Amino acid sequence: MSILETATDTSGTGPAVESEKVLRIAKHVRGLLEELGLDQTDPHLRHTDVRVAKMYLEMFQGLDEGAEPQVTTFPNDEDYSHMVMEKDIPFYSLCAHHLVPFYGKAHIAYIPDQRIIGLSKFARILDFYARRPQLQERLTEQVVRYFEEELKPRGAMVVIEARHLCVEMRGVKKPGVMTVTSALRGAFHDKAVREEFLDLLRHT
Ligand SMILES: [Zn+2]
Repeated sequence: MSILETATDTSGTGPAVESEKVLRIAKHVRGLLEELGLDQTDPHLRHTDVRVAKMYLEMFQGLDEGAEPQVTTFPNDEDYSHMVMEKDIPFYSLCAHHLVPFYGKAHIAYIPDQRIIGLSKFARILDFYARRPQLQERLTEQVVRYFEEELKPRGAMVVIEARHLCVEMRGVKKPGVMTVTSALRGAFHDKAVREEFLDLLRHT
């Protein structure tokens, strides 16, 4: 049976027309399952190849051409010169070393200069960089760099706290370990500014 016949959509309305890319990825997933000795006629594995292919394409959307968030900046008319923070922004990513999830929360702050951005854009920017095989260190750095380059703020800081399933499920098998990374620019090199960041973070 060809993959086109086996691939049905989840609505159950009939065979789905899968993109060439989904079918190419699905073929590799089938090869992997085959090497692992799995019976792909089992009802639970029958469409796993296509499901996994679609899932990867969804989780790696940040790699797509033109996926970069279009961030409109606004003039800082009020001359706001203090910290703007979005905290506890949840995210999911996949570690580049094992392709298993790492996930947690990001806290992002900047101090505007000439331009400000809409608050929802913090999460957009984070998601864009999270939706690809990623390292937490690189994710942290990419987000702070985006703020620096697009907004030219007085300063910016990003802290990410995450759990890595490659640490919890395999290898050293340490459930609950939290990895914390931070990156900063400009005014955040000042200890007092970093303390304000931490104060805002603690304040609920
Ligand atoms: Zn890993």
